[in-house]
Parts: sequence; C-alpha cells; structure tokens
Amino acid sequence: MAVLYIIATPIGNLSDITHRAVETLSLTDLIACEDTRTSSVLLQHYGINKPLFSFHQHNEHHKVEHILNILNGGQSVAIISDAGMPGISDPGFLAIRAAHQNGHTVTVIPGPDAITTAIVASGLPSDRFTFEGFLPPKKGRQTRIKAIADSEITTVVYESPHKLVRFLEMLDDFCDEARWVCVARELTKKFEEINRGLLNDILADYRQRPSVKGEIVVVVAGKNYSE
Ligand code: SAM
Repeated sequence: MAVLYIIATPIGNLSDITHRAVETLSLTDLIACEDTRTSSVLLQHYGINKPLFSFHQHNEHHKVEHILNILNGGQSVAIISDAGMPGISDPGFLAIRAAHQNGHTVTVIPGPDAITTAIVASGLPSDRFTFEGFLPPKKGRQTRIKAIADSEITTVVYESPHKLVRFLEMLDDFCDEARWVCVARELTKKFEEINRGLLNDILADYRQRPSVKGEIVVVVAGKNYSE
C-alpha cells in the first residue's frame, strides 16, 4: 500500500535520528526533501540510497500534484526537511492535507524538532505554550510581539540571528514588568547555547556581542511568571 511518510530528521546532531526513521527511509520508494545536498549528507551517513526530488516552499504547490501521482501509482513517498519535523515552519502541510483528501495513508515518524527541544531546555513553564513560528518581517510584526508581551503563557518563536536583538528590544518595549526569556541557539550542535534569564540582562548580553550567529529559538515566559 502506498503511504506518505513524514519523517523527522536531526536539527543539528546527525546521531539524533530514530531507528524507525532510518528503517523507513531505506524502505520508501522516493524521498522528497528541501535541499537535496543537505539531505544527501544525512542519507549517505546512514547508507540510504533512494531517488530524491526537491520539495521546498517555492515549488510546494506544484510538487503536491507530483506526490499524489506517485501515491496513486502505488509507490510510497517520504517527506523530510532540512531539519526537524516537516510541516513545522517547513513544507509538508499541503502534501499531508492532499494525501488525506485523496484517501492515502499518512504516517508520521516522530523525532527531533526545535520547538520542544528549546522549551524543555529553557526550564520555563511548558505545561501550556503558544508556538508563533517565524514572525512576519514587517506588517503585523509589532502586533504579534505585543501579543507575546501580553500572553500569560509561554511563547516559542523562531528567529533569525540578525533580527534577535531587535526582537528582544521590541519585546522589552511592550513588557511592563521583568520578563523571563531563554534564547536557545545551535541546539544539539557543537556550540549549543541555552541563555536564560531576565529579558533586560539577556538583551544587554546580545547587544554587546559583535555578532550573533546560528539558528535560534526564543522562549518567552508568560507575563506573571517569576522565580
Ligand atoms: N522543521 C523544523 C523543526 O521541526 O523545528 C524547523 C524548520 S525552520 C525552517 C528553521 C528554524 O528552526 C530556525 O530558523 C530556528 O529558528 C529553528 N531551529 C532549527 N534548528 C535549530 C537548532 N539546531 N537550534 C536552534 N534553533 C533551530
């Protein structure tokens, strides 16, 4: 039976892949990935040699049709992204929805993602949280940051390194009282950094650095949280 597999892959450390993910990638007929060069490194590391095709945010609409054709022809497809769980701030959703709508089986092989790794590492309340993904670059950005400042529960944001200081500054402008935050950078990689503390102190720290590099998740505690 043709299946659409959604397979989580490492967010940095190549060892962070499940046995089932490797097994499924070895058995599937084709693999759809964002950047074939990035995925080739992972697949070669695990001795997986399957036909790859590109499936990224710029061709996603068009490639969904291609994926449906493959499934209709009786072959299975695995979707992987450059890092973590496909469909989380990465392509996947459109293909998953189309597969369901066309009566195909969708099987998710769980594994790493930056959201849960960051919120757990932060030591900030994780019983309830909002995931904001990437904030819009311009229109609506301020409104979303104000909503984060007003939130009573933890918020998780994906942010690029060059916008980090500006994000923390805007958040600080909207926060009336001291706020706990955690900047989780380069998770699972050699230079992993979990930088938690009060917003003022964290902001001062990044302001005095000549530059900020790497992949970043910001975890912002709810407005009434203190420790
Ligand atoms: N699908 C991925 C997931 O499951 O988390 C997210 C993909 S999204 C395009 C990439 C963003 O995720 C980065 O800009 C960063 O905010 C976050 N991210 C991915 N890997 C990370 C890492 N190793 N450390 C910190 N943040 C990471």
